Amino acid sequence: MTTIYLKPHKEESLKRFHPWVFSGAIAKVVLDASHQASTPEEGELVCVRSSANECLGVGHWQVGSIAVRILAFGEEALPAHFWNERLRAAYQVREAIGLIREPNSDPALKGRENNTFRLVHGEGDFLPGLIVDVYADTAVVQAHSAGMHVCRNEIAKAILEEVPQVKHVYYKSDDTLPFKAPIEGDRVGWLINGGNGDVSLNGANGETDEFWSVENGLSFRIDWLRGQKTGFFIDQRENRALVERYAKDKDVLNMFCYTGGFSLYALRGGAKTVDSVDVSQKAIDLVNINVTHNFPKAKNHTAVAADAFEYLTAQKAQNRTFDLIILDPPAFAKHRDAVKNALRGYQRINAKAIEMIRPGGILFTFSCSQAVDKEAFRLAVFSAAAQVGRKVRILHQLHQPQDHPINIYHPEGEYLKGLVLYVE
Ligand code: SAH
Repeated sequence: MTTIYLKPHKEESLKRFHPWVFSGAIAKVVLDASHQASTPEEGELVCVRSSANECLGVGHWQVGSIAVRILAFGEEALPAHFWNERLRAAYQVREAIGLIREPNSDPALKGRENNTFRLVHGEGDFLPGLIVDVYADTAVVQAHSAGMHVCRNEIAKAILEEVPQVKHVYYKSDDTLPFKAPIEGDRVGWLINGGNGDVSLNGANGETDEFWSVENGLSFRIDWLRGQKTGFFIDQRENRALVERYAKDKDVLNMFCYTGGFSLYALRGGAKTVDSVDVSQKAIDLVNINVTHNFPKAKNHTAVAADAFEYLTAQKAQNRTFDLIILDPPAFAKHRDAVKNALRGYQRINAKAIEMIRPGGILFTFSCSQAVDKEAFRLAVFSAAAQVGRKVRILHQLHQPQDHPINIYHPEGEYLKGLVLYVE
């Protein structure tokens, strides 16, 4: 196996179980005999050693500022049954915390059935570079590193063996694989379709025209082929449930609604009206399908394809106001150098929303930018409130849910934060 030797003292973060080796920490790379080229291959498994030749662990090599992602600390090679063991551990956590509640005839479960969950959250499940979301009987795998791409078939097989409800595994890494990596193989498509001899509901190319998954008793159409990320934003599940608690008799505006997650919970919570807005017409089509499926008689829901800033400006011009507004924009800052602009964006959109809240109303406001931390986000919302001049109090501070765990040695895993504000 290829060995990576670190510069003196660069082993310290690895000894504290932080799983990344930055390229600047590397003193030399000693290739094994199998190599023709002068560098390791993208996604190759390498052993990392300190300057004193101590074995620190094995991980995936990749060209870029994070050169190695450690999979197993203190090991010289991947332990036997590595993928099965890590996936079983990830599944057991979801099961132990009561997240998996398969729809059945048990009346006690009514409205709480859940077969939508994140099975693997990268470093949070000790599998850096890997995301796996489960929708009913299908797992959608997303590789964020070349190494996970190389291992995709082994991963799919282990998912099938370790997760009883999964029969199909789809691969969706077209947006997430590093562009620098000259790697082979399809980045999108079925890895396993109809395992256990089952005939799949799904089309050969990944179309999912009749595919439904259940979150807390609400059904969602999941379109991983054309949809964003793996097809759905599982990370807002607990926050959507909180909106349900506050929605009764309210006029609700769900901005950046995507497939209508928050809208469905607001409707179930007894909202008077719900308006859903997203710039994507495809998303709006799915919101309408989801609302009709769950609430066939609902006449109090409206969905509009529009840019959020333009929509809010137009509503303000008509003096429209709401009792409850949800703001869940896409990551305004994808990198550290975009943080300043992102904070301005958060301030602007929050000021627009706060202006339109009726006295005694509520704002749910979120940021999923990893690069914008809790304090910076709160400061942007504070600036928005001050700009509008309303009295605002924080009722809840929200975050990512339990199936998106944060590895305590890898604080970078924290990304989703939200505030629930009471606006006088
Ligand atoms: N709240 C959603 C997830 C939102 S993801 C849920 O619970 O599932 C962010 C959404 O913002 C995406 O659907 C994207 O299409 C939309 N979006 C991006 N830019 C936008 C803009 N300028 N105006 C309105 N929507 C936008």
